[in-house]
Amino acid sequence: MIGNNLLVSGHEDLSAPVTIGKLLRSAKGMIDHTDAHWLLQSVLNSNAAFLIAHAEQPLDAELVDHFQQLLARRVAGEPVAYLTGERGFYDLMFEVTPDVLIPRPETELLVELALSKISSVRQCRILDLGTGSGAIAVTLAKHRPNSCVTAVDLSTGALAVAKKNAKKHDVRNINFIEANWFSGVSGEKFDVIVANPPYIAEGDSHLQEGDLRFEPLGALVAQNNGLSCITSIIAQASGYLEPSGWLVLEHGYDQADACRELLEKAGFTHLFTRPDLAGVDRVTGGRYG
Ligand code: GLN
Repeated sequence: MIGNNLLVSGHEDLSAPVTIGKLLRSAKGMIDHTDAHWLLQSVLNSNAAFLIAHAEQPLDAELVDHFQQLLARRVAGEPVAYLTGERGFYDLMFEVTPDVLIPRPETELLVELALSKISSVRQCRILDLGTGSGAIAVTLAKHRPNSCVTAVDLSTGALAVAKKNAKKHDVRNINFIEANWFSGVSGEKFDVIVANPPYIAEGDSHLQEGDLRFEPLGALVAQNNGLSCITSIIAQASGYLEPSGWLVLEHGYDQADACRELLEKAGFTHLFTRPDLAGVDRVTGGRYG
């Protein structure tokens, strides 16, 4: 546990009360400016505008302490989203815990492409494999209220988070199933299947960097050079798709060609691949029949 000593490094007058501005300045050089703002917003249960407008407001010692504990954990590398317990995705805020992958901007591309395949009029059946926090499933369900979404995950902890998120956003057109990929939906057919499966190769050096070090390995890593889950999903998907149904997958930066090949072999047509905001091929999909 860290005391007020962190403030000493900031050349601040410690006899004066600790204000919002002073606390934020004390974090300078230790963590990213934006991260410091997020942490303090979470401690104060406030927003960005509040911090700016109340820079001179003194804070209770308890709040200062709480911030400094989070600061120390952030300095040690813990992801901001796990410290604050939330992350924005698409147009909604999602609760996250270390049981789930932190929703990422590149996955918003998957949602956008999936939405383009889901009728806003007709009732569609959608399957989200490996739902994690439920970011994809809840966003799709919210944007397509006529649809029926099934969200599957193998992790009990992840499903608890996903269910909370569905409740938080008052989304009722989802049902959750604890299962390994398709094993929980045998005999069912869907119009659109989406997945952001684990796709990082075992031993990939990125796993030792940044947020990835703290995220559930089961949601990140796949065998066969990161392709085992993608391969298994593509091989089985046709048995669970309506005629002309779509499969849309997020994948690793170097896996688009492999995904396209697997999709083609499995009888998919109308293949597409789209780059994320960093210009990296990130989502590939196709139509069955
Ligand atoms: N997009 C994540 C990353 O590379 C990985 C997510 C995943 O494996 N599905 O940081």
